[in-house]
Amino acid sequence: MEQKRRERLTDIELTDNALAILKKRYLKKNERGEAIEEPIDMFRRVASNIAEGELCFKEGEEGRRLYEEWSEKFLQLMLDRRFMPNSPTLMNAGRELQQLSACFVLPVEDSIDGIYDTLKHQAIIHKSGGGTGFAFSRLRPKNDIVKSTMGVSSGPVSFMSIYDASTDKIKQGGTRRGANMGILRVDHPDIEEFIECKRDNEKINNFNISVAITDEFMEAVDGDDDFGLVNPRNGEVVRTVRARDLFRKIVEGAWLNGEPGVIFIDRINATNPTPQFPIESTNPCSEAHLPPYDSCNLGSINLERFVRTSSGERASLADGNTAGSTHVDWEDLREAVHTAVRFLDNVIEMNNYPLPEIEQMSKGNRRIGLGVMGFADALIKLGITYDSEEGLAFAERVMKFIDDEAWEASRKLAEERGVFANYEGSLHEARGDRVRNATVTTIAPTGTISIIAGCSGGIEPLFAVAFMRRQADMELPDVNPEFVRLAKERGFYSEELMQKVAEHGSVREIPEVPEDVRRVWVTSHDITPEWHVRMQAAFQKYTSMGISKTINLPNEATPEDVGEAYMLAYKTGCKGIAVYRDGSREAQVLSTGKTE
Ligand code: UDP
Repeated sequence: MEQKRRERLTDIELTDNALAILKKRYLKKNERGEAIEEPIDMFRRVASNIAEGELCFKEGEEGRRLYEEWSEKFLQLMLDRRFMPNSPTLMNAGRELQQLSACFVLPVEDSIDGIYDTLKHQAIIHKSGGGTGFAFSRLRPKNDIVKSTMGVSSGPVSFMSIYDASTDKIKQGGTRRGANMGILRVDHPDIEEFIECKRDNEKINNFNISVAITDEFMEAVDGDDDFGLVNPRNGEVVRTVRARDLFRKIVEGAWLNGEPGVIFIDRINATNPTPQFPIESTNPCSEAHLPPYDSCNLGSINLERFVRTSSGERASLADGNTAGSTHVDWEDLREAVHTAVRFLDNVIEMNNYPLPEIEQMSKGNRRIGLGVMGFADALIKLGITYDSEEGLAFAERVMKFIDDEAWEASRKLAEERGVFANYEGSLHEARGDRVRNATVTTIAPTGTISIIAGCSGGIEPLFAVAFMRRQADMELPDVNPEFVRLAKERGFYSEELMQKVAEHGSVREIPEVPEDVRRVWVTSHDITPEWHVRMQAAFQKYTSMGISKTINLPNEATPEDVGEAYMLAYKTGCKGIAVYRDGSREAQVLSTGKTE
């Protein structure tokens, strides 16, 4: 099966940024806060801990052999930066905490007991480094009656504020800030208050919010009909609104500061592989669609590592501008996907779950989320333009390949280890497809693990080819080093040009840069919202759960542009959408010169 012998790696190449992040937040420390492991020790710790999962299925000699074999394969995959698991796995595997999942969804029941039990569970999860998502849709609206006290209810937004305030107090194991998703159905009577609850940039800062949009609502918008808002306590229509007015409010909020996003809840449930457990929320960055008490273990394949030159060497970003000179090593990718699926299935076994309810649901469904990162880098290496038909075709091809292979790996695991416990009643059972996992693919933002792997994040285009970095009161150009190398090799390098590129952020409209280079070195600002949405839709076609993607809009975009992007996302089969209009939030960490 294994055709070529790969060189056995004994260390990992890391950028300065990657090293700094690992030291600060990932490596084991002593009481004085000094790192007591090197990055290589961390990867060894993770590989051998996750390979211990093998011993849950096979004992004795055979178990030992499998453990040895897979701990080496897992280690090589990470050292080669072809795959990284989500941050909690890197941080916690083989350590006391052993909490390995990035995301969870908790139920919010319409009772004080329910609301406050979940508040406590949120704190427990945040402490362990996970993010939480909640739907507040089951709560009765503000000012509705509370029978036991003859008082009135405070409503979803006010309870969400309590969850937000509590998040501030829990530092995630000292490593991450607690992240939350708050969801409200579009037909909830408090929907307008919810849409506007983050208008003031100081409020509910630890939450992303999204409106769960139904097909019925989209039809009402389309037909310019009235739409009923329903009290979830008794199913009564409280009042009706013009659907287009409500849609406009959502879009204006998103235009103002990116909130709220939307998720298409009926579509998510139509493809929910475990319909016996309906979905009402997502995780904080909205890529994982989970029923209450479920969790998801994410991991990402770094696509740029699979691009080769014609002589079989690993391609660099500078290699991509000679048409046809580079290609994807599909065999290598296939092997990586199979190893990664086994890794993630083992994570489910080795995980220390924060609550018994979560353990039961997670082991019952065995949802895993294999995604990709380094997509933009891979395109540059292949000489393909992100916002082109060729770019979309490549996205579909690569994601279909990964999804198909991930299912194949899950089928093989089912033969070895059995189907997931909640298989009965699942969509997989209905198709007679004996798989080990309810889901296999999800595209995460890869905010930190892409830095560790040294590649572009998720499926996003490059943020900038170069940008002006504020350092010690100076504005200095920070240019992608591979671009500098390419400019020197191709003979168009000059300091003035690099300064100009940094000021623009993008090279697309700089005539001094050769046309073929301008075509592939695209940044998120060069790309129209329409192309962003189409790219998300291309990946969604072959992804079991959702996609984390930002639809970037220029500062001068209008609310109508946002509305069009939302409509297009619905029409093209996306499961949700989140936009960001450049400059619309006060604190923007990175900025290209262009917007200043
Ligand atoms: N997440 C979180 N806190 C953070 C970052 C992420 O709880 O500070 C969760 C959240 O559910 C998000 C998921 O982790 O959707 C994956 O995020 P990402 O891919 O950026 O994480 P990474 O593994 O790169 O750290």
